[in-house]
Amino acid sequence: MPTQARTATLREQDKRHLWHPFTQQADWVQTDPLVIERGEGNWLIDTDGNRYLDGVSSLWTNVHGHRRPELDAALTEQLGKIAHSTLLGLGSVPSIELAARLTDIAPQGLTRVFYSDSGSTAVEIALKLAFQFCLQNGAPERSKFASMHNAYHGDTIGSVSVGGMDLFHATYRAMLFDSVKVESPYCYRCPFGQEPTQCDHQCDKQCFGHVADVMERHGHELAAFVIEPLVQGAAGQITHPHGYLRHVRELCDRHGVLLIADEVAVGFGKTGTMFACEQEEVSPDLLCLAKGISAGYLPLAATLTTERLYEGFLGRHEDFRTFFHGHTFTGNPLACAVAIRSLDLFASDCLLEHVRDIATHLADGLKPLAALPHVGDIRQRGIMTGIELVADRSTKAAYDVAERAGHRVCMLAREHGVIVRNLGDVIVLMPPLSVTHEEIGLLCTAVGKAIAEVT
Ligand code: PLP
Repeated sequence: MPTQARTATLREQDKRHLWHPFTQQADWVQTDPLVIERGEGNWLIDTDGNRYLDGVSSLWTNVHGHRRPELDAALTEQLGKIAHSTLLGLGSVPSIELAARLTDIAPQGLTRVFYSDSGSTAVEIALKLAFQFCLQNGAPERSKFASMHNAYHGDTIGSVSVGGMDLFHATYRAMLFDSVKVESPYCYRCPFGQEPTQCDHQCDKQCFGHVADVMERHGHELAAFVIEPLVQGAAGQITHPHGYLRHVRELCDRHGVLLIADEVAVGFGKTGTMFACEQEEVSPDLLCLAKGISAGYLPLAATLTTERLYEGFLGRHEDFRTFFHGHTFTGNPLACAVAIRSLDLFASDCLLEHVRDIATHLADGLKPLAALPHVGDIRQRGIMTGIELVADRSTKAAYDVAERAGHRVCMLAREHGVIVRNLGDVIVLMPPLSVTHEEIGLLCTAVGKAIAEVT
């Protein structure tokens, strides 16, 4: 079939049969969707052969670029042995080896790994572990969770319950459990009325005092505090003030509350260190990992925890202290084999050093965008970047939702050769960590042009 006819058929079938995530299908069927067929390094190639820089690393997963030969080889080597065997009642080689590797590189004290297959399930598991740990270790009154406004922890019921983005979460309120909410330290739109210039970590840190107050009032009833360390990704790359995570850790210690660090988005180098917690010398009690763990190849997630928490589940079979949880593809050998090879590449490519260099280059490339009349704020930690568009810079007034300014920018950016995604009116840039200086230049120029054209 000629290329264009094939693309047309695929588009037609997509519109007829596929239901896309987080997508208003009534709009989708009015468009001619881009259909991706191949990847090459940091680039995506559609069915017509057009190339696009993967500016969001295929939803923040792709770490080393697409079709990295070493990762392809790890996958085929493992396929030559076995694709899947269960962890219920059996061990499997790659899942054991990966667990040892993860606990080696994780923040201190995290010695145990529980696998699952998405960021949402990694969080769900952390919540259940924390709850059950308290229940069966002398603290049944600790049955609640604290979580942040603007938080996104996934789409399962538990992870939505600790979420804080009304657009995604409010509809399901009647299905959810209550969590104690903490204001988000969103400096550009400070909930305490501080100005961003002051708030560049020199304000009087009302957000620090606020979380301390919440913990004072609710600490006694909390099993855990769940937080996205350093950056609230899905809410629009909201970067937290320096020291905030450490402050939360100290409050958790003071009030006997477990700390769940959701590094699903920020983990695996995206903020410039392997894990974001490292930057504030924080060791959480539970660490949730997914996305970059398998370098964007296969669904895999892990919830890491401490010896103390693990031991709280030990006992005789008839004591019913077991963690009754598991998924069919828990610890899938193909995904684990790729994840191990990905960790090798972090070392052999000196990837974290590269990310830090790229982050500086990216910051330089973004400077001209800050002057555009409708760019309200540019936030960056490592390679994670959010560009917040506003209708009026002086008042920070948002665009009318119906204008879909962020979406229109992303559509135009495609015409300039890059794929980026918007979260409302925040344009997110998060290319693969392997992105080059030249590609960063292209990304910034293309997005800058698109913003200028739309707004
Ligand atoms: N936690 C955070 C911080 C995330 O950013 C995401 C996804 O973006 C999730 C959890 C959910 O991950 P998944 O989509 O793999 O379920």
